[in-house]
Formats: sequence, C-alpha cells, structure tokens
Amino acid sequence: MKVLVINSGSSSIKYQLLDMNTESVLCTGLVERIGEEEGRLVHKVAPDTEASKKITLEQPIADHEAGMVLAIDLICGPNGVVKDKSEIAAIGHRIVHGGENLHEPTLIDDAVVEELEKIIPLAPLHNPGHLAGIRVARHLFADVPQVVVMDTAYHQTLPPKAYMYALPHELYDELRIRRYGFHGTSHGYVAKEAARLMHRPFETFNCITVHLGNGCSMTATANGKAVDTSMGITPLEGLVMGTRSGDVDPALHALLARTRNMTSEDVDQMLNKESGLKGLCGMNDMRDIHAAIEMGDKKAELALDVQTYRNRKYIGSYMAVLGRVDAIIFTAGIGENDYIVRRNTLQGLDCFGIKIDKMVNAQRASEPLKISTDDSAIEVWVIPTNEELAIARQTKEFVN
Ligand code: AMP
Repeated sequence: MKVLVINSGSSSIKYQLLDMNTESVLCTGLVERIGEEEGRLVHKVAPDTEASKKITLEQPIADHEAGMVLAIDLICGPNGVVKDKSEIAAIGHRIVHGGENLHEPTLIDDAVVEELEKIIPLAPLHNPGHLAGIRVARHLFADVPQVVVMDTAYHQTLPPKAYMYALPHELYDELRIRRYGFHGTSHGYVAKEAARLMHRPFETFNCITVHLGNGCSMTATANGKAVDTSMGITPLEGLVMGTRSGDVDPALHALLARTRNMTSEDVDQMLNKESGLKGLCGMNDMRDIHAAIEMGDKKAELALDVQTYRNRKYIGSYMAVLGRVDAIIFTAGIGENDYIVRRNTLQGLDCFGIKIDKMVNAQRASEPLKISTDDSAIEVWVIPTNEELAIARQTKEFVN
C-alpha cells in the first residue's frame, strides 16, 4: 500500500511517498518559492539507499497547482517510482493547527475544509498553506482518500488545568483561547518508539519528550497520554528556539509600545523572527554557535546557556507533574545531533538519579540510542523523529 504524505506551506510543498507494506521511502521532494520569480523543485528517489537519485528543477512555479503537477510528473510519470496515480492508495496531509474540533485523523470533505478555514486566525502562518495544498490534491487526486493529521492532536488529552490560561474565561468561551501544543506528531512518535524499545506498554509509560530543532518544545506524557506541553495557543511559548523567544513576560508588549513605540505586530515579528538564539547572539544554527564559542564568542556562550537552562527548568517542572518518569527522550535537529546541548540540559540532574554515559552521549545517532548508564534512575534516549512515517501510519490505519 503506497501512501503520499503532503506538508503544504504558504510558498512550499514537501512530499514523501512511502510503501507502507515495508515502511520504506520511495521518494521525497520539496517544491520551494511558489509564486516567486525563481521556483525550485528538488526530488529524491529512494533517498535512504545507495541507488538514490536527485532531480532538481529550477523554473518559475506560479502556484500550488503548478508545483503539484510538476511533482506528480516526477512521482508518477514514465520515469516515476509508480507508473500511475492510481497506485497511490491514500494521501495524508500534515496540519499544524487543528483547533479544538479536529484531532483524530479525519477524511477530508467540505466540512473539514470549512473547519480549517474557520481556525485560520489561530494559525495564520500555516493553515492557509495547508488549505492550498488540500485544494490542489483533492482536484488532482479526486478518487484517492485523503486524510488530515494534526500536529495538535497528540496534545488533545491535556487536562483543563494544563491548557487553560489564567485569563478572563470569556476569551476561551468566545475565541477558544487556550494552550494547544505543537510538534505533537513528533512527540507521539518518539514517545511510542521509546516505550517499544524499553519493552513497556505505552498505556503505563511516563516520559518527557524534548523536541529541539528550529522550533523547540517539550511534552510530558503520563500513561501514554500527553498531560502538559510547552507550546501554547501558538508555537511561540515555552523553550528558547532558533529565532523564537519562548516564554517572556506578557507585559513586554505594553512596555515596548510605551518605550519604543512598537505596535503589537512589530513585537510579534520580533518575538517570532528576531529572538531566541538569533536574538541573543546573532546566529540561529547551533553548529555556528558552537564554532563561535570555540573562537571565544561570549554572546554565543550565553545563547547556549540560556537555551539549555530553560530546557532544564522545563524538565524539572515536568518531573514534578509526572512524579514517576520512565524516560527522557531527545529528538529533532539539535536533540539528535548535539551532545553538548543534551549534556548541558541534563547538567545537575544527577541529584534525581539521572546519569549519562558521556562516551555514548558523544556519539552521533541516526538510530535510537540509549545515552544513560544502566544504573540511571531514568533512562535517557536519543530517538530520531520521523513525522512523515507517523503521518503515513495514521493515514494507513484510518483508511484500512
Ligand atoms: P530541525 O528543525 O529538526 O530540522 O532542526 C534544525 C536545526 O538543528 C538547525 O537549525 C541546527 O541548529 C540544528 N542542527 C542540525 N544539525 C546539527 C548538528 N549536526 N549539530 C548541531 N545542531 C544541528
């Protein structure tokens, strides 16, 4: 059974075709700069094998439909990995924000499209792009069942005490202002992988998942269900990220309006695009930050300290939330690759019995790796995330 996963953004479409009988990747692709002067499509066939092949097209791509048509030609054309569109059994669409009503994987119909349109104010950067991809895919694959899989879904089990802000209640009643959480497909995937690797039933598994990429978030899972998470109504709250501030004093907007005449749009832009690691030291890629620290850059050192200290604070608070913690799991670009961030994040937690094997931690992990010692009270793992596979699995399960 072949499943196509589509992650459509405002000016890009990422896709992956998987053979779900073997869970292998047949091809992946990225269509970029849709609607701009110079568009680009990078298509990779069998990317995880020695026979991998890359095709790059550089040409204007007027809209999502034009991008999808180019991609379909590469996926299903004469030289494609499948010979005909009809070989694709189902399509799974990644949706960043499902609001309160969309959580389970759901077959796309007009009502789902309408619901996604309704919650655009909650995710103005993401949902319009998803909708563009859905419209095109429904048009081009009219006979193929298509499913939405929400990033917010895993966090739907948060109890009200964790998802409610201490704000006037009518903001929730009227506008559904509450914490939703993001990266849920990733948190759910690595949490389940950890339980499987530790031979523990997920229904009784307690863990803290630490997703550190360009965006960073942390989730506490108790008995196989998310009970708290660091991101809020938008993906800005919580940890320090590449260009996002994470937690700040909510009075900041008013203070900057008074002292710098900044509008709320200016402050929003600053908190999302000019803050985080970039705000602190001018760089948002952790590899550049380490190189700068080596050269004696004090701001880069501070950025690393601020990020790893915030991580530690959240881990401590989730240990208090969970009581018993079976595992802490690191994932995503930084979490999977950066042993210094992992080491500094866990620094001082040995008083809770957390012990890291320094040699193992220093290894690069393309496969799941346990980095805690055998006598550590809590197992610590590095588990590469795989959101596309998680979406394809849920799509397959739903369609079957
Ligand atoms: P992601 O959003 O999961 O793709 O993560 C992207 C981020 O991961 C980049 O901005 C880098 O900061 C970080 N990253 C990727 N590779 C490495 C690496 N080898 N060492 C440290 N950080 C890395």
